[in-house]
Amino acid sequence: MERGGYLKKWKGKIPIALIYPNSYAVGMSSLGLQLVYSLLNRRDDVICERFFLPEESERPVSLESGRPLNDFPYIFISVSFEHDYLHIVKILLAGGIEPFAGKREERQEGRPLVVCGGVATFMNPEPIAPFVDFFLVGEAEPILDDFVDFLAENSGTSTPRQLSLEAVHKFEGVYAPGLYTPVYDKKGSCSAMVPEPGVPARVKRLSLAKCERAGHSELLTPLAEFSNLYLTELGRGCSRGCRFCAAGFIYRPPRLWDADAVIEGLKERPTEVSRVGLLGMEMAGGTTLDHISGYILESGCALSFSSLRADRINDGLLNLLSKSDLKSVAIAPDGASERLRRVINKGLDRGDLLTAAGRLAEAGIFKLKLYVMVGLPTETCEDLQEFIDLVAAIKQKIDAIGKKRGRLTEIYLSVNCFVPKPWTPFQYHPFGIGRQLENDEMGTVKEALTNFREKISYLKKGLKDVANVHFQADKPENALFQALLSRGDRRLADVLFDMAVTNMSWKAGLKKNELRAEWFISAGSDAKRYFPWYIIDHGIEHDYLWQEYLKGLRSASTEPCDTSICRRCGVCGER
Ligand code: SF4
Repeated sequence: MERGGYLKKWKGKIPIALIYPNSYAVGMSSLGLQLVYSLLNRRDDVICERFFLPEESERPVSLESGRPLNDFPYIFISVSFEHDYLHIVKILLAGGIEPFAGKREERQEGRPLVVCGGVATFMNPEPIAPFVDFFLVGEAEPILDDFVDFLAENSGTSTPRQLSLEAVHKFEGVYAPGLYTPVYDKKGSCSAMVPEPGVPARVKRLSLAKCERAGHSELLTPLAEFSNLYLTELGRGCSRGCRFCAAGFIYRPPRLWDADAVIEGLKERPTEVSRVGLLGMEMAGGTTLDHISGYILESGCALSFSSLRADRINDGLLNLLSKSDLKSVAIAPDGASERLRRVINKGLDRGDLLTAAGRLAEAGIFKLKLYVMVGLPTETCEDLQEFIDLVAAIKQKIDAIGKKRGRLTEIYLSVNCFVPKPWTPFQYHPFGIGRQLENDEMGTVKEALTNFREKISYLKKGLKDVANVHFQADKPENALFQALLSRGDRRLADVLFDMAVTNMSWKAGLKKNELRAEWFISAGSDAKRYFPWYIIDHGIEHDYLWQEYLKGLRSASTEPCDTSICRRCGVCGER
């Protein structure tokens, strides 16, 4: 039974369909979706109803009133992951909505406006830009209300094009893709985005400066991926500057909410909630965590979290963990060797990881999840061998503690293929290739896939004799598709459309549309390279990202953010 939903009368309200392009269980685990749903429904003049990915051949209807998609003049889409892009096209088609915004204009009658937001889109909106009238770029709170007022006042009297022009002049953070024309170069890459006269060259990403009450679960359901878990954010962004992590760059500056704001958020939980999940534990300081942990313990709740920084495990947290009946905890070394962890700026050494594993076992957690990536810049077999030795040493350490208590220990190892994401220093690095490529070089998909397969099998072979290490690895082809979607440009919309209509594979879709995967993921770079996602302005200077990339290649570390004095990347003021 779901708690927290809104059932409203339609009469006199602005109807907004809110799509999460995946299943109910996945969508309901997204705090972003929950935030937008509750921000919209808190308004008396709006009725917002949710849509999720329906079963194949079913028509999408709203969860709240069972209405079809074309009953709604406004369709808002919250998209967190690139692999849901295809679902967007499928839902629009199944709901009787023309997917391409440009073609929707041809039939003005009853034309809905499609507005899209979510973290995947402020990383790189371009692959789905042709389907969307407006992107709201960045965090929802600073703009959502004003934008809904604007639509309600103007959409009845203006054409979609007039509305786009008015919106981009009125608001920062609104991207109307129909007002820009991409330019492509001889190498097949997008080399510029040309705005119509008078339209801003780039779109500023918006972020929330201050928070009185931390964001938290608004809806609880036993059917969500984290069922009946009350999630609360400790802040947004991350101060660590890991060079592979897009979230760490596109949520800059890092903001840690005051402990009291977090506790205010926690106090709003329904009384029967017994488990609380904290988001953003990577950057929370010891005192803040102790204060919040103390409140959680006193209120009789257990703590849950997805992943923990190995150097953040202190006595207070262990105390809470041991009372929380957690079965497993994930630690993310991310890079296979100490050298690679400097390349990615992870800042964890072998000692940190061994100590963390030992302390967790002593607190009664005998199942560890370890996350590592293969295919990082400069990675070699020596790095992978070091990781095999590390996993064996961790296993030995927790085994010794488990044995004394008569408990079996297990390691679940998750091996992920590294995708060089937009807005990170590694955006300049080719997918699946260890070495840096010059601007006039182009790697191949074949080389990338071969590298990934060899590395995964090297790790698997090296760990096959370590008892109770469960090995799970990404499929390199899936990572390749993810790389395409996260690094692609508007030309991929035709591929997504063909895939949705005919069920063809993405490889067949690329071929049909005369596109090559290499253009998007394997081209070499120099400091001046243009990327399609530069249409968004995150405030980060491109030269900073390039210098960070070069530092990574030299295994040089960068200090975590200190927003009070640091002006390094441009987000906190001019350098
Ligand atoms: S200017 Fe410094 S503190 Fe601010 S986001 Fe950039 S690196 Fe972090």
